[in-house]
Amino acid sequence: MLGPVILAASRSDRMRRLVSAAPVTKPVVDRFIPGETVDRIVPVIEDLTGKGLEVTMDVVGEDITSPEQAAAARDAYLELIDRLEMLSLGERAEMSVKLSMFGQALPSPATALDGGPSGPAPAFQSGHDLALANVRPVVEAAARIGTTVTLDAEDHTTLDSMFAIHEELRKDFPQTGCVIQAYLFRTEADARRLAAAGSRVRLVKGAYKEPASVAYQNAAEIDKAYVRILRTLMEGDGYPMVGSHDPRLISIAQELARRAGRKPDEYEFQMLYGIREEEHLRLAAEGHRMRVYTAYGTDWYGYFMRRLAEKPANLRFFLRSMVSK
Ligand code: FAD
Repeated sequence: MLGPVILAASRSDRMRRLVSAAPVTKPVVDRFIPGETVDRIVPVIEDLTGKGLEVTMDVVGEDITSPEQAAAARDAYLELIDRLEMLSLGERAEMSVKLSMFGQALPSPATALDGGPSGPAPAFQSGHDLALANVRPVVEAAARIGTTVTLDAEDHTTLDSMFAIHEELRKDFPQTGCVIQAYLFRTEADARRLAAAGSRVRLVKGAYKEPASVAYQNAAEIDKAYVRILRTLMEGDGYPMVGSHDPRLISIAQELARRAGRKPDEYEFQMLYGIREEEHLRLAAEGHRMRVYTAYGTDWYGYFMRRLAEKPANLRFFLRSMVSK
């Protein structure tokens, strides 16, 4: 019951200001977002990879409101990639990006001016084009250091644009990955299209508040869809990335991989930093590729609220720490 309320709050500016200003927020945030700067996050990456884990790095931020912020997001990833080059981790450290942080949702300049062309020629035609223009140098820089980028999945209204950008990037960088969400009705068809040679696809349950017209609302139905889609990915020719902490789904994934004749390096598990960390180590020790989605940066509000929404105990812990101060 609480999940949808928290997800609605994750899009509220008033709540953002309240939660961000609360002095007790920071220690709770640190559990999921272990650093605000590149200098802080590099030792975390070294620690995780030193334990035999791999990482996918997310500079937190989304729903930006100006092209300048989109360019700053691009530059933050480029700065991180420069630092990763010195660590020589290759594909053991990849990038995850949210296209809304690269300008995808910005109105085209013409639309913003009531449809009338005005002023100097626009630097971009649409948010879609701007996001593509900003993400391309990040994908190029990742390829230069021997790694890749995965496009995260945001709310369902953004996905046609995300898949089109994914397809465009794959023309030059076929390793570029994308995320699909089991809770959406459309995803079984997306998975069939994407389960092709050379593609890298992360399957997750889905973290946004979606209407019943487009998404399953019931946990059991989402789990069943997850298994159907995972079977398609495992039986296909691409590289499946199993994004879940759910113990049942993790053992089903292992069984589906075995039946499909996949070797341990022909798929991987992915979990979020700060969640079920013993399981990260257990899977890695068993010889699985285990990648930790590690978020860092200052604009952590949306990411943090989605983690609270996924588990009511997180919210209770957060609220308890507020009253015990
Ligand atoms: P659940 O049934 O939610 O959780 C299983 C168990 O894991 C829980 O019982 C609990 O023990 C533990 N757990 C799960 N979440 C939490 C938490 N927040 N705090 C503490 N314990 C927890 N969603 C998107 O919509 N788009 C994306 O691009 C995206 N990328 C992701 C990348 C990765 C690597 C992962 C792991 C998740 C990603 N998600 C993304 C989030 C995903 O959609 C789910 O919301 C999230 O993973 C919770 O689902 P679950 O499969 O872990 O199963």
